[in-house]
Amino acid sequence: MKYSVDKNGYYGRFGGAYVPEILQKNVENLKQNYERIINEPSFQKEFNTLLRDYVGRPSPLYFAQRLSEVIGAKIYLKREDLNHTGAHKINNTVGQILLAKQMGKTRIIAETGAGQHGVATATVCALMNLQCIVYMGELDVNRQYLNVQKMRMLGATVIPVTSGNKTLKDATNEAIRDWCNNPTDTFYIIGSVVGPHPYPDMVARFQSVISDEIQLQLQEKEGRNYPDYLIACVGGGSNAIGTYFNYLDDKRVKIISAEAAGLGVDTGETAATIQIGTEGVIHGSRTLLMQTDDGQIIEPYSISAGLDYPGIGPVHAHLAKTGRCEVLAITDDEALDAAFELTKLEGIIPAIESAHALGALHKIAFKPSDVVVLTVSGRGDKDMPTYLEYFKK
Ligand SMILES: *Cc1c(COP(=O)(O)O)cnc(C)c1O
Repeated sequence: MKYSVDKNGYYGRFGGAYVPEILQKNVENLKQNYERIINEPSFQKEFNTLLRDYVGRPSPLYFAQRLSEVIGAKIYLKREDLNHTGAHKINNTVGQILLAKQMGKTRIIAETGAGQHGVATATVCALMNLQCIVYMGELDVNRQYLNVQKMRMLGATVIPVTSGNKTLKDATNEAIRDWCNNPTDTFYIIGSVVGPHPYPDMVARFQSVISDEIQLQLQEKEGRNYPDYLIACVGGGSNAIGTYFNYLDDKRVKIISAEAAGLGVDTGETAATIQIGTEGVIHGSRTLLMQTDDGQIIEPYSISAGLDYPGIGPVHAHLAKTGRCEVLAITDDEALDAAFELTKLEGIIPAIESAHALGALHKIAFKPSDVVVLTVSGRGDKDMPTYLEYFKK
């Protein structure tokens, strides 16, 4: 496959494994073993059984009739919001915890921003009876009280990070520091297609179940296994690459990624990494990131905590730079309007992240016969305070 990663972990110029000396053996060990382990029939069997019986897969591919009429194309929603814990992130944490167990690791660490990946990690650690430590910026700990309490109830230790801006980037730095101090017994579960090789490829493979199911479900519903358009939101890019995975080399399929424009791409209050980012190294890989001329990370802003990240998975940097995907930046207001529209038309309250993908629907000139698959990455329960705020206006 043309778009798969090369043996050094690169997608074109992007990717690689930029880690401190002390972690090199660890990352190398993972790189040498991950493909073999996750392709073993016994691993696949356990992974697929958990996806079915624990996560609740396959997630439905739902034909959204009323939304289709408004947009003027055949819109199918891939319902990752119906998974256990309410989003796609659980697909990846189930995969990584099985890998950690296979590799004999006894201690799990993770970073989290809004807490969604932290909850998904704490969930699988409870399931597998493994120790779980979640690093979270102090600001986020205060903002995401419910998720912090969920993680604690699930048995995880949540460590508030007080360095830097006290948000996701700082939590990630702290998790990497922990990993450096505990390289032998600890497995670092990364929450998106970011980080040093082999994480981006590994996470993409675990999330590719989304794409596998779309092929089967479209065949059943449309008599062909590919759509004309795929649309997903991109924070780090894991639900997006999971959606695109089997179609990257299929030129019949147009790929649209929605990133968070925040208040607007040119306002300085944005998380539109692909539009305004430049090349650099962040959290272990070479990619596009929001940085000043002298390489200081620019703090991102989006109404959506899940899209509020200054980098982007290296595969998405490559897809964007080679023109394979089109990137649309969706503002806070456009996402909010799209969330209310979906709710009124279909009775589905989406996550505010997913609402950015929905916002993109209004910016594309579809033909009525176009078959569109849009991934609803998560449900909106966690975003009710944000939605209620908007309701008051
Ligand atoms: C975390 C999250 C995202 C963003 O992460 P990706 O890796 O870009 O998929 C999107 N939607 C939801 C619901 C999330 O929880």
